[in-house]
Amino acid sequence: MAEPEFEQAYKELVSTLENSSLFEKNPEYKKALEVAAIPERVIQFRVRWENDKGECQVNKGYRVQFNSALGPYKGGLRFHPTVNLSILKFLGFEQVFKNALTGLNMGGGKGGADFDPKGKSDNEIRKFCVAFMTELSKHIGADTDVPAGDIGVSPREIGWMFGTYRAIRNRWEGVLTGKGGSWGGSLIRPEATGYGLVYYVDHMIAYASGGKESFKGKTVAISGSGNVAQYAALKVIELGGTVVSLSDSKGALIAEDGKSFSPEDVNAIAALKVQRKSLTDLERHSFKYLAGARPWTHVKVDIALPCATQNEVSGDEAKALIESGAKFIAEGSNMGCTQEAIDAFEAHRKEKKGESIWYAPGKAANAGGVAVSGLEMAQNSARLSWTSEEVDEKLKGIMKACFDNCLETAKEYITPAEGEFPSLVAGANVAGFKKVAAAM
Ligand code: GLU
Repeated sequence: MAEPEFEQAYKELVSTLENSSLFEKNPEYKKALEVAAIPERVIQFRVRWENDKGECQVNKGYRVQFNSALGPYKGGLRFHPTVNLSILKFLGFEQVFKNALTGLNMGGGKGGADFDPKGKSDNEIRKFCVAFMTELSKHIGADTDVPAGDIGVSPREIGWMFGTYRAIRNRWEGVLTGKGGSWGGSLIRPEATGYGLVYYVDHMIAYASGGKESFKGKTVAISGSGNVAQYAALKVIELGGTVVSLSDSKGALIAEDGKSFSPEDVNAIAALKVQRKSLTDLERHSFKYLAGARPWTHVKVDIALPCATQNEVSGDEAKALIESGAKFIAEGSNMGCTQEAIDAFEAHRKEKKGESIWYAPGKAANAGGVAVSGLEMAQNSARLSWTSEEVDEKLKGIMKACFDNCLETAKEYITPAEGEFPSLVAGANVAGFKKVAAAM
């Protein structure tokens, strides 16, 4: 079967490894790459559930247990009608190296189902979660495989699945992360991916400006309106930046004429999302809703943060961002940029040197989410809870270490030309892969 998304993620990794000195220095890692390209295990199952009319419904469920060299398989569950094995293999593959970049001991995996929560009642979603976990519970455990949320799976769904696991296995253990605060979840987990992304970009800005600049006074385009986009927007605003776009699957919401999103607007969007409503409802609040559009060609910004889904920035959109003067692009989504978009950013980085755009891939820039999941696992094992401040401090430390690791690895293995920013995409790939290959 063709696996376009997985092949895209694999080729993206391999092309950067081959252009580095990694295989020269460690010839044995070529074999490790061949081994790492195949998941350790793929579990595929039937999820049979009953809708509100009492009719039998069926979906395809999956868990890809990709690599456990560094620790238990770890990665989210996605409930979306597009879910198939190619998408979950690409997500699981990315997760392996992302988790390595957190510096914590977590392997990588991903799972989910082709179930569409849109248009379903709360009761139907709950029934689906129970049916899904009834099967998945046979294959996971706190030291085996620890799923979490992803698109379509929020703390509410995690709660229904966690309760099911507990009942079936008669065990309270940290088998899922992203739990609610009162039943074993970590503080700052909901915020972690968005906050971590902004912390990472803050280091990019500081490095590029020799410590002179920050988010203060910068305009930022964000796509998406889920958990990642919401908390990225709130953190950008807190740090003095201006957010001028958000989006959903049906279009982009743009703030024009010097307007911008306030924390209240972001909270209003969060409330709409809970009701599973479209962002068109916010149009009357002085924003323009462009049906069928993505933000990138409709904004003039310093920073672009794709936070919706894979392949949400095309080659042409990347060129439009470059032409409009954007300086930083970092993915809150997994594989948010197409290969054509990455190629455009990387070519510009080489050509324009210190005046170029600078791109950070999701496996580094959005690692904050799974990093705090790792911290949730640690708290569950130790049977204690850290304060928000403690978790946020650790998250900041992890994002700083991740940025430094990408930067230093790029300098060591790819050697940028004089005045050129190091390639964070190559640095992330070499650093993540190297750690996993050594462990394997
Ligand atoms: N789905 C998130 C990701 O793509 C989080 C995974 C997790 O917390 O395990 O990294």
